[in-house]
Formats: sequence, structure tokens, C-alpha cells
Amino acid sequence: MRAGKETGMPIAERFESIGRKGRQKKTLRCGADSLAGSVSQRACVYCGARVVLNPVTDAVHLVHGPIGCAVYTWDIRGSLSSDAELYRSSFSTDLKERDVVFGGEEKLTRAIDQLVEKYHPPVVFVYSTCIVGVIGDDLEAVCKSASRRHAIEVIPVESTGFSGNKADGYRAACDVLMRVIASGQREREEAGESGSSSRDELAINYLGDFNLAGEAWIIRDYFREIGIPVNTVFTGDSTYESIRGAGRARLNIMQCAGSMNYLAGKMEEQFGIPCLQVSFVGLTDTADSLRRVAAFLGDEKICWRAEELIARESEKVKPLIREYRRKMKGKKAAIYVGGGFKAISLVRQFGELGIDVVMVGTQTGRKEEYETLFDLASEGTVILDDANPSELEKFMVEEGADLLVGGVKERPLAYKLGVAFIDHNHDRKHPLSGFTGAVNFAGEVYTTLFSPVWKFTRGGEVWENGGYSYGRASC
Ligand code: SF4
Repeated sequence: MRAGKETGMPIAERFESIGRKGRQKKTLRCGADSLAGSVSQRACVYCGARVVLNPVTDAVHLVHGPIGCAVYTWDIRGSLSSDAELYRSSFSTDLKERDVVFGGEEKLTRAIDQLVEKYHPPVVFVYSTCIVGVIGDDLEAVCKSASRRHAIEVIPVESTGFSGNKADGYRAACDVLMRVIASGQREREEAGESGSSSRDELAINYLGDFNLAGEAWIIRDYFREIGIPVNTVFTGDSTYESIRGAGRARLNIMQCAGSMNYLAGKMEEQFGIPCLQVSFVGLTDTADSLRRVAAFLGDEKICWRAEELIARESEKVKPLIREYRRKMKGKKAAIYVGGGFKAISLVRQFGELGIDVVMVGTQTGRKEEYETLFDLASEGTVILDDANPSELEKFMVEEGADLLVGGVKERPLAYKLGVAFIDHNHDRKHPLSGFTGAVNFAGEVYTTLFSPVWKFTRGGEVWENGGYSYGRASC
């Protein structure tokens, strides 16, 4: 018997990936391949690469594979653009049985030619998928020859679905981004600009924000107000040219470390751009991140303006947060998200709202992120890496979670259990970053926790404040 559901226990081979604060040392097995048969919630390599690259707004995103892989489009990655809209189309070579037998290189060549002729993009990203890995099409050669023919960059994304997990896809996307950054840097150097003389001494690159619901714009506006120009965002609302100019920044700040840590390391190594880890999820982390970036740049005026902005925005939102806290204090939350930075910030954010976190896990968290989670979590909190639905269900029910924060794959699980759900994933349409986002988040938690629907699913009673009380979910 593989699944834990029948036994009520996780599969034995998964024990080292599951911990409980207070009962063990703060180490978890993580960063490893998923256990075969355990129904991991992780996505494939291609999906990981697409998540990172798709927000590049003026690129052609061409999926070399069967049509099913191309279903991953803008619709499930709601990054906003201030200009180009090409990224909202998903193109596919639609490989069929015949191509599997005879190869798909000719079809790919024709697809690139047609797309370049029709859309005149500055760059084409060609994603490899599982079947391409099986039949062995030479993407690099096809892209190289198309690049010469059209005099633009046509870049293969080495994202064969089965060749690892989502985290390997992040790395494949970072390799592509690095290629684009390096070509821009080379061009500047050839034009006589040396690395440091071409730098803007206050400009920053913002890594690991995909401008979901305009979140990168909120953060960019904060920085603009305090006098720090945001050079490029990776990759929310970015363009080919803006990525090529990334080498001009003095500092990289990185929010989603899971997807961007590799790129940040490469940029430090090759261009000498240091990196600061930040988070704009929740009031505490937002204020702390603004302060640290200002302090790093070492400009007194910037530090002073940052303090002013923090004081003004905090004053605006704190009464609202206090009121939500009063209403929600003592509720219990479970968290299952993609990366560690978000999980850490959410634990802090729930603390601000008086909500206890009883379970927290990630798909691709890193060792040091799990150590931080062990430090932050309350005694008894379940902490788990690369969980499966059976484990999520078991711990949510056992710990009496009232709410699950997760992504599109966790939503049905929460609803089946009669547990409230918050979408903190790519397809949401409202911003959860910065001071504004903290209020949106609190409002959304409140709305879902006290939705009248629970009256029908759990047999609850109307509360005086208009909400409903309810019993524990059963399953
Ligand atoms: S690349 Fe493979 S695993 Fe990923 S969506 Fe396509 S077929 Fe599925």
C-alpha cells in the first residue's frame, strides 16, 4: 500500500521529509527528487521554466511538444504588462505520432519562421517537453540556425518535463535569462562601456516577482518614492531589452529565492552584483525589506524617505489589520506553497493577524528556509517538504485547520474537507504584496473564514458579527 490515506500514516520513506516543531532537530530532507508513487504536488521541469519565463512580455513562447503541454498559458499565470501583449499567446508545434516517429525538427523550423514573420519578436524562447527528450530533437541546432536566418535570439529552454522537477525548470529558465543578460553586457562592453562605469549607483534589479495582479508595480512605486530606480524585474513586466540591461544595476534584491537563487549567484559571480534577500509579503517583512535595501545603498536621504514611507503606510493600514486581528484571533491556518520565502513570510503574516499556523510546507523549499521555519513556528507545528494530498489532508484534519493557503492544486482538497481556502498562487487577480497587499490578504482571509457557505457545509450557527461558527471538518 503506497498512499498514506488508507493507513492514516505517511509512507515510511517520507518520514524524513516531515517534522514537528519541538519534537526533533530542525532538519528536514528537502531538495531531493520526489518519491515515486507518492503523488507529489510539484510540477514538471517545463512548467518550472515556463513559470519564470512567461512574464517576459514581448517574447514568443513556443512550446515544442504535444498540444497538451501548451495549455500552460497566461491564463494560469496572470502577470500584467505595461506594454507588449505577445506573452499572452501560447504557441505550440503540436507534435503528433508522425513527428514522434520521424522527428519534429522540420516542424519546429517552420513554426519559428512563421512566428517571426508574423510577430517580429525580439526573441523566441523554444521550450523542450517530455516527448522532445524522448525523440531527441536537436533544439540547440534548430534555434542556432533560426537565429542566424532571422538575426534575432532564438533560445532553446532545456526543460524536458521528466528530467527533474519544477526546481530544475527554474534553473533552465535562469540559464536562458543569463544568456540574454550576458549578450547585453557583451554589447555594452564592445561599445566601450566597462562593467562598473555603466552602472547606475542606486539602481536595483528586483528578482523573483512575476507582477501577478500588478504586485511588482506596487513595490517599484515604493522604491521610486524613496529614490531607488528599479532597473529590471525578473521577470514580471520585463522585456527582452530590459533583461539585457540587467547588468547595469548596483544591487539585486531577491524575493522568490526558490526560482532566482541560481540566477542571483551567477550574476554575482560574473558581473559582481551582490544580492539581498527580501520579502514584501506582510507588514513586518515589507518594512524590514525597504529598510535593508535603503541601508545597503548607504544614502542618508533614501533611508530617511524609506522611514517616512513606512510610517505613513503603516499608519494607514494598521487600524484595519487590528480590526481583522480582533475578529480572527485564535483561528488555525495551514500553509502549502511553492517556495520557502513565501511560507516564512506567511507564518509572520498570520502572526500579525493573531492566527496560529498549525502546518506549513513547500514544494521546493531549501534547507536554510526550513531551519527558519522551525525557528519561527509555534511548538507542535507540522513542517513538511514536497507533501502529497494524503499528508496535507491528514495533518489539516488532525490539527483542526480552519484555513489552507495554497495554489491551484490544493484548492479542491481544501473545499472537499470543508476548509476555507486562500489562493496565493500565479493565477490570482488581486495583489498580496506590500502594505496594500497585507490589507487585501487580511480581508480575503476574513471573507473566506466567515463565508456564509460554511453554514450549509458544516451546519454552523450565525455569529453576532455576521460570521458563522462551525464544527471541525469531517472527512
Ligand atoms: S513536459 Fe511532460 S510532464 Fe510537463 S506538461 Fe508536457 S508532457 Fe506533462
